[in-house]
Amino acid sequence: TELDPADGVRALELDRAHVFHSWSAQAALHPFVIAGALGCEVWDFAGNRYLDFSSQLVNINIGHGHPKVVAAIQQQAAILPTVAPAHANLTRGEAAKRIIAKAGPAFGKVFFTNGGADANENAMRLARLTTGRDKILSHYRSYHGNTGAAIVATGDWRRVPNEFARGHVHFFGPFEYRSEFWSTTPEEESARALHHLERVIQSEGSNSIAAIILEGVPGTAGVLVPPPGYLAGVRELADKYGILLILDEVMSGFGRTGDWFAWQNETINPEHVVPDLITFAKGVNSGYVPAGGVIISESIAREFDDHVFPGGLTYSGHPLAMAAIVASIDAMEEEGIVENAATIGREVLGPGLVELATRHPLIGEVRGLGVFWALDLVTDPITREPVAPATVGLLKAELMKRGLLPFLSENRIHVVPPCTVTAEQVAKALTIYDEAFTAVEAI
Ligand code: PLP
Repeated sequence: TELDPADGVRALELDRAHVFHSWSAQAALHPFVIAGALGCEVWDFAGNRYLDFSSQLVNINIGHGHPKVVAAIQQQAAILPTVAPAHANLTRGEAAKRIIAKAGPAFGKVFFTNGGADANENAMRLARLTTGRDKILSHYRSYHGNTGAAIVATGDWRRVPNEFARGHVHFFGPFEYRSEFWSTTPEEESARALHHLERVIQSEGSNSIAAIILEGVPGTAGVLVPPPGYLAGVRELADKYGILLILDEVMSGFGRTGDWFAWQNETINPEHVVPDLITFAKGVNSGYVPAGGVIISESIAREFDDHVFPGGLTYSGHPLAMAAIVASIDAMEEEGIVENAATIGREVLGPGLVELATRHPLIGEVRGLGVFWALDLVTDPITREPVAPATVGLLKAELMKRGLLPFLSENRIHVVPPCTVTAEQVAKALTIYDEAFTAVEAI
């Protein structure tokens, strides 16, 4: 369709007049107007094109406008666009079957939600009902969603004005670059973080703790790939104290790390430990229609064969979202999209970012895997002092000017393109990052 710059002006005017935005003081906002998108690119109404290295909110794993997913939604809309959750529906069953197949034989059922936050709400509820215990432990460096318990399980600043749910306790997870434990190796960081966790469990009273909830790879907090032994160590502590392990794979799942789930990654989990509950959203259908859910272990699912599950949602298993899940998982398989994320990360994006850091002192650390990377920006590589927000603002402007839509969080750039990104697109992006850093360093 023809692009009309006047529509861009109108989109911004309407937005500023009537739309209330997330996590922001409203007055100073100047949102970027997107007119359309395809693959790894978005464009504005003036026809300027941008490489989407944000994947929007790190959710467009399959890329924008994938024709098979779009067609599946259209077909489903013509057959049955909505249905009550109590009825059985073929597309929902097909979606659940595919998700269980990816999670593996320990898992029995899927409870579908509208997104990631309510997936975590229901996972925590399932853990509390199953164990008869109350407390939920989670990392300070975490984000679990913006609803009652999910925002209080969240560790970052967004929890603090929203602490209306009870029974949440936080602890520090491993983060070698900014260690809370004075560690100097990943192994030491892992061991000390596990010691800290065990002391928190004992001090809180292990019999009061229903679950530990962790992101597969803490994402918004800075792409904190867990060090060797950490996940297996958490599993061991959970088992020792009768606590359930919930893995929040909302951001890290469905291809982002180069595996279907982060916990299935050989580097993260060589011991192959398995969680009790997995939550997902985002990449499961790349957000073409909102959806999330909880993947429930066979044994927890069985608990509810004869006990009522006290929870539900009008749109649990919404047919349009389910059609998008089925088509998305099938297309990811047919087109080797998860494998592409792994290969690109290992061979092109990771090495390219490491090389970029050698030329730019602003980049203190590069960390990540697959298409899930963070550049930790510092004023001084020795003290690791985070750069000021103004520096990040300048970088954003320089990146946008050169045609790259970035993902920014605190003092970091998260490099998170769709899993379908090509080596050519990565090369182009690396040149843009390079030029933008050079421009900002010259200021
Ligand atoms: N969990 C994680 C790890 C997330 O990154 C997010 C969103 O960014 C959520 C949960 C919340 O998902 P939603 O915004 O779909 O509710």
